[in-house]
Amino acid sequence: MTDAPSNLFYQSRNPRPFLDRGEGIYLFDQSGKRYIDGSSGAMVSNIGHSNPRVLAAMKAQMDRSTFGYRLHFRTEASEALATKTAQMMPGDLDRVFFVSGGSEAVESAVKLARQYAITQGQQSRWKVISRFPSYHGCTLGALDLTGYDPLARPFDPMMRGMPKIPAPATYLDRDNLTEHDRGLKYAEMLREKILAEGPDTVLAFIMEPVGGASTGALVAPDSYYGRIREICDEFGILLIYDEVMTGAGRTGRFLAAEHWGIVPDIVALSKGFGAGYVPLGATVAPARLVEPILDAGGFLHGFTYAGNPLACSAGLAVLEELETQGLIDNAAAMGEVLIGRLQGLMERYPFIGDVRGKGLLTAFEFVADRDTMEPLPVGLNAHSRLVEIAYEHGLITYSRRTRGGVAGDHFLVAPPLIISEAQIDEIMEILVESLDAFASETGLGTGT
Ligand code: PMP
Repeated sequence: MTDAPSNLFYQSRNPRPFLDRGEGIYLFDQSGKRYIDGSSGAMVSNIGHSNPRVLAAMKAQMDRSTFGYRLHFRTEASEALATKTAQMMPGDLDRVFFVSGGSEAVESAVKLARQYAITQGQQSRWKVISRFPSYHGCTLGALDLTGYDPLARPFDPMMRGMPKIPAPATYLDRDNLTEHDRGLKYAEMLREKILAEGPDTVLAFIMEPVGGASTGALVAPDSYYGRIREICDEFGILLIYDEVMTGAGRTGRFLAAEHWGIVPDIVALSKGFGAGYVPLGATVAPARLVEPILDAGGFLHGFTYAGNPLACSAGLAVLEELETQGLIDNAAAMGEVLIGRLQGLMERYPFIGDVRGKGLLTAFEFVADRDTMEPLPVGLNAHSRLVEIAYEHGLITYSRRTRGGVAGDHFLVAPPLIISEAQIDEIMEILVESLDAFASETGLGTGT
């Protein structure tokens, strides 16, 4: 197959090989080369590739209908997926609005919050505070919440400039506080921002419970989560959890929020929710928010493909797979194993400064010096170089360099939740080969 330059705008002048097929945690290109999908694509393929039960459910739905516009028909698939999603969500989060991706889920959450505030006579509330760095999507509304300069700055004049607070810099922060107090310190920044903006102008606060593309699996101190919930309640501000990456079992719970016993007011889901079988996402909220909006005439929002039966049949089969195969518990157990193995790498590679994560969303970070925690020079482009070397060795991973002083180069390892311990060892074997090659190429060397 030859390249078709009219297809997309290739980000790289060196396009990737053509994908042939997927099977469990593996992908194969057209030359027959096998890759371990060590990052589930972009933390998407949570139940692995070509799951026969999901494919059968999709085929059965396809044989009946693939589309019926939501204003013309209800479909059994979307009703069943909404019911199943509500069952799996914590607390009172039981109203589900389907979308086709993460940015749409975030935008829908924000517009839902705004319409709810209007029903409460709070027209003055419109600001959504988010964190820096963060990633919430690339459509203009979601981008305005995203704290990632390289993507956002060119579009500044076209956005409102939503207020931001720093994301907890648990690793690089040089204060002398305990973990507990550091969590409270960062939560306090929300309170200060709300006061500075004027509490009656603030609609919501949005956060990724565990950083993804933004900070590389950075987890805040436990004290942060509960205090943020309290501050939102104190000012009547809606708490939106962007669980696009962390949701659907990735961190070892259905929602990452459950690790801290938090019930957000609105949750955005995507990625693992459709698990790569279909473009699918959802915005989930409790009846207490949704009913007043319906009473006032309905949600002024919606996408043509939302809730289509084919996507919903796949989504339902994915959630059933998570449940019947015990994949969320497996993610918790295998996450422990993976973190342990990654920590083991620190002995051999002095340039790995931190290992972190929750469940199967794990990462390590490169440093020039563990004592000073100074990052590697930008020019080394360490994170993307290691991704390339691992790719050549047959391991797919995901990396970024965070700007904003919260973290440096990070390297994410987030395999499908179906992974076994033996397969984690396969990942580690390739990772060690790749790190050895990286250490000698860069002259960084190994510790042994
Ligand atoms: N929120 C988070 C936390 C994400 O990680 C992403 C995607 N990386 C998005 C939103 C946007 O999702 P999408 O690319 O499907 O629009």
